[in-house]
Amino acid sequence: MNEANYISVILPLKLEWEPCYALPEGMEPHMVEIGDRVKVVFANKEYYGVISATGITPDTDPKKIKPILSVETDMERILPQEIELWRSVAQYYLCSTGEVYKAAYPSGKINMEEARAAAKSKVRQRRERLIESIEGKIGKLNVRLAKKEEMLAKARKDSSRETYAGEIDKIKEEIRLAEEALTATLGASLSHDTKCGPQEQKDLELTEAQHKAYKSIKKGFGNGMPVLLHGVTGSGKTEIYMKLAREAMDAQRNVLYLVPEIALSRQLEDRLYTYFGERLIVFHSGETAASRRNAAETIRQSAKTGEGYIVLGTRSSLFLPHNGVGLIIVDEEHDNSYKQDSPAPRYNGRDTALMLHRIHGCDIILGSATPSLEEVYNCQAGKHALVELNERFHGSENADIEIIDTKAERRKRGMSGNFSRKLIEHINQTLERGEQVMILRSRRSWAPVMQCDSCGEIVRCPHCNVSLSYHKDGSMRCHYCGYSEPYKGSCKKCNGSLMSLGAGTQKIEEEAAALFPNARIARLDSDTAQNKTYESKTIKGFANGEIDILIGTQIVTKGFDFSNLSLVAVIAADGLLGMQDFRADEKALQLLEQFRGRCGRRERKGLFVIQTSQPEHPVYQKIADNEASTLNLTLMQERKDFNFPPFSRIVELTIKDTFEDRAERMAMRLGNIMRKHFEPAGTPILGGPVTGPYAPVVDRIADQHIRTIRISLRKDRNLAKGKETIRTAIREFEKSQKYDGHITINVDPS
Ligand code: ADP
Ligand code: ZN
Repeated sequence: MNEANYISVILPLKLEWEPCYALPEGMEPHMVEIGDRVKVVFANKEYYGVISATGITPDTDPKKIKPILSVETDMERILPQEIELWRSVAQYYLCSTGEVYKAAYPSGKINMEEARAAAKSKVRQRRERLIESIEGKIGKLNVRLAKKEEMLAKARKDSSRETYAGEIDKIKEEIRLAEEALTATLGASLSHDTKCGPQEQKDLELTEAQHKAYKSIKKGFGNGMPVLLHGVTGSGKTEIYMKLAREAMDAQRNVLYLVPEIALSRQLEDRLYTYFGERLIVFHSGETAASRRNAAETIRQSAKTGEGYIVLGTRSSLFLPHNGVGLIIVDEEHDNSYKQDSPAPRYNGRDTALMLHRIHGCDIILGSATPSLEEVYNCQAGKHALVELNERFHGSENADIEIIDTKAERRKRGMSGNFSRKLIEHINQTLERGEQVMILRSRRSWAPVMQCDSCGEIVRCPHCNVSLSYHKDGSMRCHYCGYSEPYKGSCKKCNGSLMSLGAGTQKIEEEAAALFPNARIARLDSDTAQNKTYESKTIKGFANGEIDILIGTQIVTKGFDFSNLSLVAVIAADGLLGMQDFRADEKALQLLEQFRGRCGRRERKGLFVIQTSQPEHPVYQKIADNEASTLNLTLMQERKDFNFPPFSRIVELTIKDTFEDRAERMAMRLGNIMRKHFEPAGTPILGGPVTGPYAPVVDRIADQHIRTIRISLRKDRNLAKGKETIRTAIREFEKSQKYDGHITINVDPS
């Protein structure tokens, strides 16, 4: 036997081991390398795998070892750092290396010609879009200018004349800047092969506060520390990122700029393109396989030419073939969208970025206006450096808050449908000033629940334990499994008539249309966002002032920069607090603070209206008193007292089964095994305690009954050992009970 002829291969499967293959007759060992892609047969199926080791000693009878079918020379070779990242992710999130590989390289072969053609047209589209967007902005600014001039002419008081004159000057300055940008962009698109953005040569000038933050960031980097930039909304975090990015690129290093959500990357894309031109690579999971391949190719090319690039992307861009990385930016690090819940790897983009940072030994900056408690903890523990930026660039103060008690208003007949009279008044005033309004309602559909008027029966999904939502198109839909049936108008049980409970975004939109007949209204939620062009059009339309009122779900709270937005309102805010989860208050606080930060980003101070039936809730009160940070302290203490993350790590086990009794039985058994490991005779060695099994609030989805077990592990040197214990115990359980494919492991569930 010649050991040089044997290799091990990572397969895109949930496989704990890396099977061994032989090189076929006539192939010399020096012809393959770690990272090469090979075609092999495993369990009677063909796969493209990755060579993870060469020259190995097979642990089975060499005669039984199959040869590989071929080496795929036209598929990209995987870099050692990529495999290292896969292994780190697999170890941390308790999945297989193959599952990470599968997520990183989702499809087989791609035609490179098509990939390049697609990329070319994308570049063209981006230029056109940018020009269109700047022209739109200039148009909008001119409208605003005319409006303010009209108001100036009408104003009687000296003080208001002064205010208007000041605002007019600022708008004129913005017009001048936009016209400059337009000229630069038009110029740049003439010389096609330029690698610079239209404003590449223009220097980024930081304000004094920004410069101070920038200096502290550099100091943190100098000490080899990850940096948390805690900067209020509109303070110019993005400007600082761009400056840091350009520096890294000037030093021929590459940059990875992560955002939690695709929708966010659109606005940012135009902004970054202005500075980085064709050196900007945009990548997210919505991209086609071809465009992914093309992004990877560009990165590989730049490794050869030494020309720095910047990748803007969602979490999946962590798995591009990065090399020579100088800087990683994790924007909006607190955002839950960074976490992938299904399928495996169930990873958090923020934490995986930290792994990538360790592998590449590069700088990393995490930024947010509302940092996660995890990050606050890291800074308190001295592991990350904290840099604060408390000044807004445009100088406006944080938006004022008005909390409206809907129960009291209803008693006083102060409500018109879901809008309070006070809110209606604010909206009218805002529209009169020629400014914009954004409304958050966390539930989509027309009505989230339909109930029978006579027997009280609630219309439910036949496959899930949830109510069906009524949609404007006349359908009743399940938001968990996608089931849909036509609306019949009567109860299936007693034939009584159905009435709606609560209001979703569609109903709010209808009410708004009736209340503000002259306003241009649009809606943004995952129903309308299905259509990607509609989504980006709406965001752009709102940015350009073609829409007066934008109504939407959580998506509208994210880091957009709308200059003319001065009123944001949340309707039925209680829905945000109702979650039975130790993270509920932290999440609600982040969401509301982020939403508040969308408005008043220019000359005028904004207003944030919260309509709620629980006005005394501490989350609202702390926000109103501008004391989000003290609330954070309280929350942190609570987490400590109850040993919740970030003071511990949670591993969640989920059992899914078509038979409820079996789900229950298996979950009980698994729970007992976990208790045996983690709570032996009340002396927790590795951590504990184990909670569950319990049925989650929605305990049946798509005909699968669900049970959950939570294990909380101490964050000490036994952590890795504790996780390994869980993994091994589950593997043994699955084998002994012949219960494969029912259990999922989620480390750090969101
Ligand atoms: P954040 O990311 O902290 O919310 P942004 O970077 O989006 O803040 O900045 C808010 C607005 O202020 C943007 O329109 C941005 O262009 C502008 N701005 C911030 N800093 C500067 C600067 N130093 N020079 C020019 N414009 C700036
Ligand atoms: Zn369903």
